[in-house]
Amino acid sequence: MAYEFVDNYREKGARKQLVAHLRKRGIEEEAVLAAIGKVPRHFFFDKTFWNQAYKDIAFPIGDGQTISQPYTVAYQTELLHIGKGDKVLEIGTGSGYQTCVLMELGAEVYTIERQENLYKRTIQVLPYMGYTPHFFLGDGSRGIPEHAPYEKIIVTAGAPFVPEIMLRQLTIGGILVIPVGDAKEQKMVTVIRTGDNEFEKIELDTFRFVPLVGDQAW
Ligand code: SAM
Repeated sequence: MAYEFVDNYREKGARKQLVAHLRKRGIEEEAVLAAIGKVPRHFFFDKTFWNQAYKDIAFPIGDGQTISQPYTVAYQTELLHIGKGDKVLEIGTGSGYQTCVLMELGAEVYTIERQENLYKRTIQVLPYMGYTPHFFLGDGSRGIPEHAPYEKIIVTAGAPFVPEIMLRQLTIGGILVIPVGDAKEQKMVTVIRTGDNEFEKIELDTFRFVPLVGDQAW
């Protein structure tokens, strides 16, 4: 994959159109829209496919994985209600696009990816773009207990169930956003930790994610 780090005027125009499209689709939080408007998504694409970068579509990034659809990124981000300085665990770094959006909102991001090629790519590309999250390589289906607790946890791959071990890594008042379902489709689920042993679960819209693979997953 050949990266060309050029943030030219034409691409900025396309990004504005993407933001307008997301607003029309129902994304309301201005800070989330502004973050999407700031991250140069074409940096994650080979130059040949730059014309696809600001379409509201998922796109292959190699190793059988995809960069998430902008609407999905905005939808999950909105559910997290990120505040400046929030410590956020992201499971499934993928291209790193979602990571950048979280960081634009002021989050301190711990991000884990199980595929080595993707991990190796993001540890180069993101710092080059000016984003320096804490990168991890491995199975994130158990969270990262060593660095817990987190104010927010986002899972960017489809899980068969909500892993109990992840819930235990949330602060009181913390929020987990995770797609849960079968191989074909998943419901977006948010779980809020309301007390030591109290959790509030809400099921939302249907999405299609690549599977979360690991110890507490498929
Ligand atoms: N949000 C990402 C982006 O913006 O590019 C896309 C994420 S992609 C839809 C899901 C990612 O989760 C894939 O890169 C996949 O390898 C990763 N993944 C799946 N199971 C995982 C696990 N147990 N631990 C860490 N990463 C995992």
